[in-house]
Amino acid sequence: MNLKHTMERWTVEDSSDLYQIREWGSGYFSISETGDVVVTPLRDRKDVSVNLPEIISGIRARGYDMPMLLRFEDILDSQIIQIHESFRTAISKFDYKGEFKGVYPIKVNQQKQVIETITRIGKFYHHGLEAGSKAELIAALSFLDDKEACLVCNGYKDREFIDLGLYACKMGFKCFFVLEMPGELDLILERSKELGIKPLLGVRLKLSTQAGGHWTESGGDRSIFGLTISQIIAAIEKLKRCNMLDCLQLLHYHLGSQIPNIRDIRASIQEACRVYAGLVLEGAPMGYFDLGGGMAVDYDGSHTNYMNSRNYTLDEYCADVIEAIMEILNEHDIAHPTIITESGRATVAYYSVLLFNIFDTSSIDTDSVPGELPEDTPDIILNMLEVLKSLTIRNLQECYNDALYYRDEIRQMFKVGDLTMRQRALGDKIFWNIIQALSDNVKHLKVVPKDLIDIDTALCDTYYANFSVFQSLPDSWAIGYLFPVMPVHRLDERPSRNAILADITCDSDGKIDHFIDKQGVRRALSLHTVKEDEDYYLGVFLVGAYQETLGDLHNLMGDTNVVSIRVHEDGTYSFVKEIEGDTVADVLSYVEYEPKTMTKQFRATAEQAIRENLITPQERREIMSMYEEGLRGYPYFEQ
Ligand SMILES: *Cc1c(COP(=O)(O)O)cnc(C)c1O
Repeated sequence: MNLKHTMERWTVEDSSDLYQIREWGSGYFSISETGDVVVTPLRDRKDVSVNLPEIISGIRARGYDMPMLLRFEDILDSQIIQIHESFRTAISKFDYKGEFKGVYPIKVNQQKQVIETITRIGKFYHHGLEAGSKAELIAALSFLDDKEACLVCNGYKDREFIDLGLYACKMGFKCFFVLEMPGELDLILERSKELGIKPLLGVRLKLSTQAGGHWTESGGDRSIFGLTISQIIAAIEKLKRCNMLDCLQLLHYHLGSQIPNIRDIRASIQEACRVYAGLVLEGAPMGYFDLGGGMAVDYDGSHTNYMNSRNYTLDEYCADVIEAIMEILNEHDIAHPTIITESGRATVAYYSVLLFNIFDTSSIDTDSVPGELPEDTPDIILNMLEVLKSLTIRNLQECYNDALYYRDEIRQMFKVGDLTMRQRALGDKIFWNIIQALSDNVKHLKVVPKDLIDIDTALCDTYYANFSVFQSLPDSWAIGYLFPVMPVHRLDERPSRNAILADITCDSDGKIDHFIDKQGVRRALSLHTVKEDEDYYLGVFLVGAYQETLGDLHNLMGDTNVVSIRVHEDGTYSFVKEIEGDTVADVLSYVEYEPKTMTKQFRATAEQAIRENLITPQERREIMSMYEEGLRGYPYFEQ
């Protein structure tokens, strides 16, 4: 870094660029002039923002500890409105004759609050729900009261599921059974006859189109879901035989989640529209074309077909869907169907933010090597010191090779007992001084040797973060997914450290060491030094989809505290819902411990200690109250 550059004042603009917040923030997240992350959740009031650090202090003042999941209900409203407005615009632009009706797939975030909010705002647009299991259907029936909205039942259906769905039809719900496998039809026909209720039927098409991306096993011949073309024909035959072809009104497919490339989306529509046309020609009434989920979220803000991104906007998605459907169906002169999408990720991702504090940091010891070394310093260490002294911009690669060689030798000699602990520590210090010098020099090179490209990440700090990756970001741990992470304050200050994040579980996989970047992936995150007297807060953004119920209890870290926020038009906000996270007793009881019995047992152990004169009765009282306090407490790092 040249001196002029470091002398220039760091601005919030620089932070916006560094963390790419404008690119992934989708208008909801940005940085204020004072260097704080602000949230702008209302679609039509871009002038109304709330300040994240202020919200954090409000929550802390009320007694909630970090980590904390913050939900912005207004963002859910805004996303539903936006999806419908975009489709409306495309429908009128292309003069499409059908309508658009979305359904929200419950599995993407099953929290009651989400279903409640979506059905409330959804009513204005006849936005319905998609249920993939009995439990989800039962949840959907108690929240959906708009009879114009669709209720799409995917997943495997047993008799109980089918009976409930049939009665829902009788009560006036637009409840579709989507055939996922050939055998389901018999049971549906049998129950329909028995109860005297005609079902609304759909078929799920097994596409041959396959898309690039992470979760795209749903398409393609090897997909476990859906019917092949010949199975669909067999179903038509069966329906014809029992005079029920008029029940078949919907075609469904699902290409997979997070489809980054719009070309794959178009290709799948083309294939499915041919099948739709075929079904109409067979005499099925049809009327609904359900293209499943898959609309991607631009997590890294790169706007590319990279798997963490998408190469289209919402408006472009809607326009492409309408255009692709019209292109095929007009050719066959087929009436334009009602379009259903099952966008889950794109609907809920923006709505939650995970917040946590940094409770400690550690950096590599690159303090300078003492001028005078002990008399008995072994040659191997003196040799390494010689590498450090001789390092210039001309011999970086050579010094790097030598440093690695001596480091390995030193480790080996220590292992066999030829070096003392202090000698080994001195060797390590010299080694890291060399790496630091390499990193400083590499910045002045036009062409950097391959080995030295990432040399500065070798020096990065570890920031200990108060949350569990396993509980709160399962996709980050399980499939290396990248979410935007950044500090939520001090963004008018230059971040002077590079760090990876270690979580609070003591598992070596409990970390985040890959971060979003304009080009590819970054191996360290730029962060500020942590001040002695002030908490340092980071946020992980766009975590509303799939993360909450996939999380687990690794190291017995339970659900975090959750607070939901409604923002008012005057810029004030209310905490509308608070959900206290799991206590230590809660998480223990999930794995079959009984806190009452445990207390009893520990009390007996403490009594025994009195008898053995190890503690006094007063001490036992204090120990017991500490123990019980611990059971009632939060499993995370408390302040
Ligand atoms: C998971 C799933 C969805 C949701 O997909 P997103 O990519 O989150 O929009 C929709 N439909 C079906 C059948 C699914 O299994």
